[in-house]
Amino acid sequence: MTLSDQELERYARHIVLPKFGGAGQQRLKAASVAVIGAGGVGSGVIPAMAAAGVGKLTIIDNDLVDRSNLHRQPIFRDDEVGSEKAKLAAQFAMAINPHVETVARERRIDADNARELLDGQDLVVDGSDNFATRLAVSDACIALGIPLVSAAAVQLQGQVGLFRGQPCFRCFVGDAFDSEDCDNCAELGVLGPLPLTIGGFAAMLAVRAIAGMGEDAGKLHLLDADQMGWRAIRLPADPGCRACGVPRRP
Ligand SMILES: [Zn+2]
Repeated sequence: MTLSDQELERYARHIVLPKFGGAGQQRLKAASVAVIGAGGVGSGVIPAMAAAGVGKLTIIDNDLVDRSNLHRQPIFRDDEVGSEKAKLAAQFAMAINPHVETVARERRIDADNARELLDGQDLVVDGSDNFATRLAVSDACIALGIPLVSAAAVQLQGQVGLFRGQPCFRCFVGDAFDSEDCDNCAELGVLGPLPLTIGGFAAMLAVRAIAGMGEDAGKLHLLDADQMGWRAIRLPADPGCRACGVPRRP
């Protein structure tokens, strides 16, 4: 995959990075990435991935912009309240970087359609706002062999990690949350810059993984925006996990 003169100029500060270089930029250009959720986390992920030069960016979200979203979702404007988020987010990404192909999918992703929606992606970033969606996305990524960056932020706590095979997100969460929307921002609140920070971190994990800069899978990064600090925990695999483990004998 070659880079045009305009792209060489645009990505010059990437290309001079010894650990990234022209090879990393070409890998990024060759990659298709799906972002689930054009919300607070998506508002961090989408501009970062588009600016960095991912080849194809698919944005999956079936919501409309609500005025109560705007304090944490700066990719949307006040005059866009009531409009489709996926389409607006794709337009935002295209305006940042015309070299990125963008696709808006105005669908709600769930256990029934996740494989169909994610098939063919090289990496998925999940910034959805509930465990049921995150588990459905994780299971589909395991089945399709796609690395997943899962990112979440609520109140003053954020978490983000790269999952590639075992351990998967279901090893971490377990099977208790498949049918519950138990951590919705609407009820619990969230500090505006927190999901943007988590989304920016998620984009960094994604770009590093695609460019082959080093492996960070199986580790969860936790941001405490109350005491202000990051910590990382290594996640154990669940050998009997129904998504990534060896099926238990009855
Ligand atoms: Zn698992």
